[in-house]
Amino acid sequence: MSKLLYLDNAATTKTAPEVVEAMLPYFTEKFGNPSSVYSFAAANKEVINQQRDTIAEMIGAKTNEIYFTGGGSESDNWALKCTAEAYANKGNHIITTKIEHHAILHTAEYLEKRGFEITYLDVDEDGKVKLDDLKAAIRPTTILISVMFANNEIGTIQPIKEIGEIAHEHGILFHTDAVQAFGQLPINVDECHIDMLSASGHKFNGPKGIGIMYIRTGVKIRSFIHGGAQERKRRAGTENVPGIVGIGTAAKRAAANMEERTAKEREVRDYLIDRVLNEIPYCRLNGHRTDRLPNNANFSFQFVEGESLLIKLDMKGICASSGSACTSGSLDPSHVLLAIGLPHEIAHGSLRLTLNEEIEKEDIDYVVDNLKEIVAHLREMSPLYEDFIKKQK
Ligand SMILES: *Cc1c(COP(=O)(O)O)cnc(C)c1O
Repeated sequence: MSKLLYLDNAATTKTAPEVVEAMLPYFTEKFGNPSSVYSFAAANKEVINQQRDTIAEMIGAKTNEIYFTGGGSESDNWALKCTAEAYANKGNHIITTKIEHHAILHTAEYLEKRGFEITYLDVDEDGKVKLDDLKAAIRPTTILISVMFANNEIGTIQPIKEIGEIAHEHGILFHTDAVQAFGQLPINVDECHIDMLSASGHKFNGPKGIGIMYIRTGVKIRSFIHGGAQERKRRAGTENVPGIVGIGTAAKRAAANMEERTAKEREVRDYLIDRVLNEIPYCRLNGHRTDRLPNNANFSFQFVEGESLLIKLDMKGICASSGSACTSGSLDPSHVLLAIGLPHEIAHGSLRLTLNEEIEKEDIDYVVDNLKEIVAHLREMSPLYEDFIKKQK
């Protein structure tokens, strides 16, 4: 089997060749510590700030509002824990949603054990936050609202601007986990009243282990790592210069062709969605039909076990996911699929396919043709399906 079709770009992406090339000199001849005085090394400080510029420009921020972290999870941890601590004298209430990434949810649970009160908002059947619920959840003690820009499992894009407006009107900080949205959707932190934003290099063809945190000027967040004066004393440690050059180069690349790239992905995605919904019975699309990430499709197939589906697809060289990479290996169905109201047995039969710009309609044909056969085959072996068909007759 020679074919390998990678359809798990929400889990991670391939580092673009030009990104790797831009990084290489910073491992070898340009290895200097940016904090050193001599110009050979101090030049790297300038290089880091150029990457900050690129990223700031992409989201309508100022250069000194961009911080480099060790990834999306670190940025999410920083946003929640360190504003919670800094604003504890103002209140102890935080609002988030039931469909956040575990980097947010588990951090919120950690804070709950330390005396913070967390409201986890429900979402509607498409996975969107209901603005009336958000307004109703606000208390005089609310210090932070954290809602993801777009969901990593079902792709649904949140009404971020409206959420930001509500937060702003109430004088509450607004953080968004934009790890899936960054590089795929236009983002403007002022228009959306975003005070803090997380992004991660490896989700947009940059390297792993490097992330972005945007912090609006005036936000009183506590430092995440104490030590040297790097990152304006807020995140100490010698900078990951190759990683920072990598994430900056990847951001520039993503911004340069965002419109054409995502237009193509949308077209191929819709082709995939239409073929699956039309040709495979007892199947549903999860997430909003149109307000969804350009590269995301997520389906549930009745009478099918998601894990079996993944194994069979793997045998055909197709890399897919049943939800998020972080939950695979556990038998619990996805918290996101449960939150949009799917019963356990339907949530268990779910499949996430996330595209990139290289995926063509012919690739989708290969996937759907195989998927049809695999689903039919798995159902043939299912006693539940047998009962169901008997009852139909
Ligand atoms: C991948 C992901 C993260 C975690 O990012 P890492 O860089 O892997 O730590 C956080 N939030 C969302 C929505 C993600 O998709």
